[in-house]
Amino acid sequence: MESLKQLYRIGVGPSSSHTMGPKFAAEDFLAKYPHASRFRVALYESLAATGKGHLTDSAIFSVLGEERTELLWQAEISMPEHPNSVLFEAFDKEGEILGKQVYFSVGGGAIHTRESLQSSEKHIYPKTNLTSIMNECAHQGSSYFEYVLEHEGTEILDYLQTIWDTMVKSIKRGLSTQGVLPGSIKLRRQAWSYFQRTKTASSKLQHTGILTAYALAVSEENAGGGTVVTAPTCGACGIVPATLMFMKDSYELDDSDIVSALATAGLFGNIIKHNASISGAEVGCQGEVGSACAMAAAAACQLLGGSVRQIEYAAEMGLEHHLGLTCDPVDGLVQIPCIERNAYATTRALTCAEMAILSDGSHHISFDDVTEVMMQTGKDLCGSYRETSTGGLAKLVSLRLHNKQ
Ligand code: SF4
Repeated sequence: MESLKQLYRIGVGPSSSHTMGPKFAAEDFLAKYPHASRFRVALYESLAATGKGHLTDSAIFSVLGEERTELLWQAEISMPEHPNSVLFEAFDKEGEILGKQVYFSVGGGAIHTRESLQSSEKHIYPKTNLTSIMNECAHQGSSYFEYVLEHEGTEILDYLQTIWDTMVKSIKRGLSTQGVLPGSIKLRRQAWSYFQRTKTASSKLQHTGILTAYALAVSEENAGGGTVVTAPTCGACGIVPATLMFMKDSYELDDSDIVSALATAGLFGNIIKHNASISGAEVGCQGEVGSACAMAAAAACQLLGGSVRQIEYAAEMGLEHHLGLTCDPVDGLVQIPCIERNAYATTRALTCAEMAILSDGSHHISFDDVTEVMMQTGKDLCGSYRETSTGGLAKLVSLRLHNKQ
């Protein structure tokens, strides 16, 4: 299992797998062929199916240059390793090929070549399932945060502080920005008005309003191409920051408390990433919003004083109750259902944490069980529900949208 630095990444939206990943791949390829005169880039399967709405073309052009890059959209071609695959080719001025490379954008902004997919070089955690980590922590009387520190070293603290600072900035920017998001839907940003309305609302409504306004703020920033943190992806980037900010406000917590909760959330996200998938193209939205909900639930439960068993229970519920959630972004944009879904999952994350803290921590289904089932469910999902924008809301609403024009 890799470092949390590979899970939490800072970058621009709207999509970690379709925007950040291809941009990182283009940067890597350009570094290999800096003197190439021309490039050809073929996007396959999900990258081609939703790449336009997810701004994959702009991300690649921003690195290689639009004038010297030919882009091919080949949704009908797939590679066995991953549905988000892309072939880069470099040519000299005579048109002779200098080299080529296939990359896989595996979710959360991470990219792999065929070789690095097999390599275990970057793996720093010896244990890769939550039950064994939980048992070790329980045996030693330590916390998940201390387990992370033991394997990452104390330098992870500065990294997580930077991650938290970036999350706070994205909430603030999102709360103070109004207007219509880019793209065909003409969706109006809601975070500012939600937040304003909480000021005169009853205390119960205020809680829901503030929590959801924070999540909307970050997800709207993402949809607008703003800077966000993959937690664990761009599409699901509102849930962890909103939950942490709400907990910080509600319980007057310090940044050090939040950093330790981010470490725990990251550990749970890392287990899902390693043993299953956080890629909507591979397993549907259960892998994105479901994973983020589990991470946020774990973090919130820790901040409520939960034991390792209660924290595991909170995360398990967060993922279990998103099993089967499909990915069907309307018109390939990370807006509907994504933005509202982040807000709703944030309320669920908090509920999971509160239920777990009220329990004695005992439960029948483990976090590892539900992670395994999530992966299997993702494999069983028909392709139109795995970030291809060809099923569900994407099919119905995109058709309506284009028939009107
Ligand atoms: S539906 Fe979920 S997985 Fe699909 S793009 Fe939106 S947030 Fe990502």
